[in-house]
Amino acid sequence: MKVLVIGGGIGGLSTTIALRRQGFDVDVVERDPQWGVYGVGIIQPGNALRALDSLGLAEACVKSGAPIRGDRTWLADGETQVAAHEWPPLAPHLPPGNGLTRPKLHEILTSRTLESGADVRTGVTFSEIAPIDGHVDVAFTDGERRRYDLVIGADGLYSKVRERLFGPDVKPRYTGQICWRYNLPRIEGLEEIWMFFGPEGSAGFVPLGQDLMYILTIETPIPEWRARIEREGASNVYRRRLESFAGPVAEAREQITDDDAVVLRPIENIIVPAPWHRGPIVLIGDAAHGATPHCGQGAAQAIEDGIVLAEELAKDVPIAEALEAFTARRYERCRAIVEGSEMVGKWEQDHSVPIDPDATRHAVVMTASAPI
Ligand SMILES: Cc1cc2nc3c(=O)[nH]c(=O)nc-3n(C[C@H](O)[C@H](O)[C@H](O)COP(=O)(O)OP(=O)(O)OC[C@H]3O[C@@H](n4cnc5c(N)ncnc54)[C@H](O)[C@@H]3O)c2cc1C
Repeated sequence: MKVLVIGGGIGGLSTTIALRRQGFDVDVVERDPQWGVYGVGIIQPGNALRALDSLGLAEACVKSGAPIRGDRTWLADGETQVAAHEWPPLAPHLPPGNGLTRPKLHEILTSRTLESGADVRTGVTFSEIAPIDGHVDVAFTDGERRRYDLVIGADGLYSKVRERLFGPDVKPRYTGQICWRYNLPRIEGLEEIWMFFGPEGSAGFVPLGQDLMYILTIETPIPEWRARIEREGASNVYRRRLESFAGPVAEAREQITDDDAVVLRPIENIIVPAPWHRGPIVLIGDAAHGATPHCGQGAAQAIEDGIVLAEELAKDVPIAEALEAFTARRYERCRAIVEGSEMVGKWEQDHSVPIDPDATRHAVVMTASAPI
């Protein structure tokens, strides 16, 4: 079977590695000629490590990162603790969770993809996709034309493959919050995620390596925030947004000084209605189900998609049957994670939303910990 993966990010590369392990012939096209990622970090909960372990990649991630053994939450005063959880390890030889920089994860995934023998072209995307008689004829922006048995849209939240299959109205929704991130020297001994709930959002720390962590802040933006950043600089505005926090966040705040190192993203999500395929073209990862970052599950779900899709295709059943089985195994789990993560964000914006944010987050973790 000849497969095209469109998008060389976390989901596309995990899928490529999983498919190559099953012996499929895989081409990858990645739009970015540099094939790069931005600099901050990523939380890998136990189910992400379990999935990466099945691809032979978990140990490399753990070696390049820092263990996460649980999470702890305080109010913005930095003193009133409101929750603490130890994360159960999902594999005996791995820590319960891991934090590492996105460039490190990208390096692990790209080098294993290239070693796998997949044909990767960067700076290239599709210009036409035409399903014909059980095949898909694809024209590319570099002038090539190739025929495939299966095309996988792994092109992220703003997926062009999704637009081609489901139309422009099936698109991500802005949830009303933004996320700030910035790498800092690690607080000595930090082996948990520390979160602090403030009046307008939350701030916290995630270990990323022996000497590195990042601070993240999820908040409802001030009106005109883009204009203020242009006027004052991103680091200045970020520091000001942390003024309501005391304790460790207040100490860390003073180290946020480099405008170029501030990573700021709007928080959006999507759950594409099932099934996620049309003929022999299927969506995976954020293209199909992008979760807000409140439970640190987006990338984990993209990796799991790759493993499940490769398992179903390896059963040697007709492609339509394999793709139906893929969505059937993935849809409810991803929907619960997208919706649970969104509820936490809703509560952060309006504390009268009738949920317990800690219990909601824990329910998401339990859903994600179940076998795939
Ligand atoms: C603020 C924030 C924090 C997050 N933190 C975490 C976390 O801690 N843990 C976690 O598990 N998840 C986290 N996530 C979610 C995670 O980043 C995503 O779920 C994950 O990156 C999805 O992987 P993907 O491969 O589907 O998409 P992407 O990682 O977006 O990859 C898509 C790839 O496709 C390429 N591409 C795009 N369009 C085209 C095209 N037309 N043709 C060819 N190539 C194309 C892109 O260049 C990119 O390389 C976070 C998300 C946000 C916004």
